[in-house]
Amino acid sequence: MIDNAVPVCVWLKRDLRVADHPALAEAVARARGGAVFAVFLYEPEVLLQPERDASHAAFEHECLVDLEAALGRLGIRLITRRGEAVAMLESLRRETGFRLLVAHEETGTGVTYLRDRRLRCWAREAGIEFLELPQTGVVRRLGSRTGWNRLWETRMEADRAAVPRSIGRGGLATVSRLATAGMLDCRALGLPADTKDRQRGGEHAAGDVLDDFLSRRGRNYSGGISSPLSAPTSCSRLSPYLSFGAISMRTVWQESEARRQEVLANFLTATSPRDRAELKAWQRSLKAVQSRLHWHCHFMQKLEDEPAIEFHNMLRAADGLRETEVCTERLDAWQKGCTGYPLVDACMRSLVATGWLTFRMRALVVSFASYSLWLHWRPTGLFLARHFLDFEPGIHWSQLQMQSGTTGINTLRIYNPTKQAIEQDPRGVFIRRWVPELAGVPPAYVHMPWTMPADVQRAAGCVIGHDYPAPLVDHAKSVREAKRRLAIVRNAPAALSEARGVAERHGSRRDRRGAMQQDPVRRTFGRSGPRRKAPPATDPQRLFPFLSPDTGDDTS
Ligand SMILES: Cc1cc2nc3c(=O)[nH]c(=O)nc-3n(C[C@H](O)[C@H](O)[C@H](O)COP(=O)(O)OP(=O)(O)OC[C@H]3O[C@@H](n4cnc5c(N)ncnc54)[C@H](O)[C@@H]3O)c2cc1C
Repeated sequence: MIDNAVPVCVWLKRDLRVADHPALAEAVARARGGAVFAVFLYEPEVLLQPERDASHAAFEHECLVDLEAALGRLGIRLITRRGEAVAMLESLRRETGFRLLVAHEETGTGVTYLRDRRLRCWAREAGIEFLELPQTGVVRRLGSRTGWNRLWETRMEADRAAVPRSIGRGGLATVSRLATAGMLDCRALGLPADTKDRQRGGEHAAGDVLDDFLSRRGRNYSGGISSPLSAPTSCSRLSPYLSFGAISMRTVWQESEARRQEVLANFLTATSPRDRAELKAWQRSLKAVQSRLHWHCHFMQKLEDEPAIEFHNMLRAADGLRETEVCTERLDAWQKGCTGYPLVDACMRSLVATGWLTFRMRALVVSFASYSLWLHWRPTGLFLARHFLDFEPGIHWSQLQMQSGTTGINTLRIYNPTKQAIEQDPRGVFIRRWVPELAGVPPAYVHMPWTMPADVQRAAGCVIGHDYPAPLVDHAKSVREAKRRLAIVRNAPAALSEARGVAERHGSRRDRRGAMQQDPVRRTFGRSGPRRKAPPATDPQRLFPFLSPDTGDDTS
């Protein structure tokens, strides 16, 4: 029974928005005329995780500044505190007497997993009702993957959670007396300065990026997402907003579906072949992005179901494969973008500078590290997590393992860095931009600079082994050896039977063509909530000020 003179506490974590925020809506509904306050905790153990970079703190800070204003408009105060979660919430409980704590379920790292367990224990002992609500398609305590697709669709199709405009005032005096640490940026948190040229945080920025994608950039999604030249503008660029919860997955799904329905309706009435081709391209792109929204939760579900995959091989028969061989020299060269393979090096340097890489390039750098350099996925994954602004533990560790051959259920996908460079960056525009040592190298050699004759090297101002490294390994030879070692492990009878268990636990339930059992993008449903009006064409330079004009050049 809630006494409305006692406020209700909403604990914000990776859900930094007000729109479609089930925890906020539930807290207001349950307060029944009482006040609601929101708390965000700067937790040292979270801030100091090896996966965190100053760019994460800076992006989070921008989200919080935006959120504080939005909550203020709703009459909800945002309190921040710095310290360990249980201690901070216990002191807030003593100060306010709150008896209901509402938050979202989080599929996070080992640190937040243990923190949440401690918190549940504390809540039980303190007689606090701790309500954790889902905010994505990830299902807690899922018994079996069968039927999961349908659950995902149900969540995506449900009405968005709206916070009523009038918030209760009972207990408001208590809330207004609460001390707050305020909005802490990197400097206030004692972190190094954020040096990345990255996307800006905040719910407003998230809405702008989504609108711009659905009204303009999304046309080129299909066909434009693999090359590092076209991907920065062709991809949605929603990942950091989804990861920090500045926009909900349901909002993105519903807005994309509304746009797809609009395209479909226009297609049915379009008569000119040009218009029809254009609308077909939109349709293809929107379907492709919607599949990926589904993948987002599909991959997160794996970590939710088996938290150990953050640290251990999904296929335990693969234990020992790379664990004992730690080559710091190779790891260091890969991190610095000095492997001698131009596209790999350009990707690593661009990632460190901007905090983002497209899927294909992420897969390429991991494949190169795991197969060509035979590095274990854990240290490489930690480095990437620090530099991916969109670090999402469930997607990240599942993908790391998938691209390293340790799941036992995925076909080995080994990328050839030179072939990818020729296909995805044929003129070496991306390579030259991020590896300036290769700027003067003639086009014929930019993908394989080690094949330059000595006089060409001198003329190009790029002597291999002096100005730019010779290849760290022979890719073809090292991949042959990697395949041999993996085949021994993966084909052992015990591994094959273990892999069946992995497939049962984590495999997507898809038909042989790769479609979902019941493909949600084929089905039409009514939207809930009005679609935002299409904004005027936006200047990509405004949304992504760090892009140089040549990165929008789709050469594929
Ligand atoms: C080794 C590796 C690590 C990755 N780590 C992360 C991570 O930490 N966080 C993260 O959000 N994505 C990760 N991805 C998936 C993918 O590369 C990014 O989601 C995507 O590049 C983000 O850019 P975008 O928002 O423009 O994506 P878009 O292509 O526009 O896709 C829209 C959304 O769909 C989801 N999505 C897209 N591709 C995938 C995918 N393959 N698997 C799961 N969800 C997907 C993301 O939420 C993305 O924001 C990883 C991929 C690889 C190969």
